[in-house]
Amino acid sequence: MEQKIIIYPDKRLKIVSKEVEAFDESLHTLLDDMYETMVAKNGVGLAAVQIAVPLRVLIINVPIEAEEQENDQPKENTLEMINPIMTDKNGSTLYQEGCLSVPGVYEDIERFSYAKVNYFDRHGRAQTIENDAFLAIAIQHEMDHLEGKVFIEKLSYIKRKKFEKEWKKRPRAL
Ligand SMILES: [Zn+2]
Repeated sequence: MEQKIIIYPDKRLKIVSKEVEAFDESLHTLLDDMYETMVAKNGVGLAAVQIAVPLRVLIINVPIEAEEQENDQPKENTLEMINPIMTDKNGSTLYQEGCLSVPGVYEDIERFSYAKVNYFDRHGRAQTIENDAFLAIAIQHEMDHLEGKVFIEKLSYIKRKKFEKEWKKRPRAL
């Protein structure tokens, strides 16, 4: 079921998420709800805390090339990461990021260009992923959410000031 996404500067986005201990039905429902919510809002990634569930759970689904009318984010392509831990990283890259909790805002953010992450899948099986492209960036963005951080906090002082000023003036009908 689609859930409501928490919008910045809601204080709940600052909560440090807790580790998942049970890989049960309620976790699967959470993951399914997260997928429906993300796709409904045309997002490529979502952390559980963004739907007010402060657990160390994130999903990413990088759109594929698809014919018109076809779903370019099939559910089976969803990367579901539970209790992720970064075990290696290097390089640096700038990429224009957005976030479903800060709708309509896109900013260049510096990230590691390579990341290796250990995590568990929905069945509690240990997994490892490494990537040096878009996925590496998306994982870092979502993992920040688990620490209670939103991407605009990585902006320079000047850019952050400008963002906050414009954000206060935004239309509230979002
Ligand atoms: Zn985000």
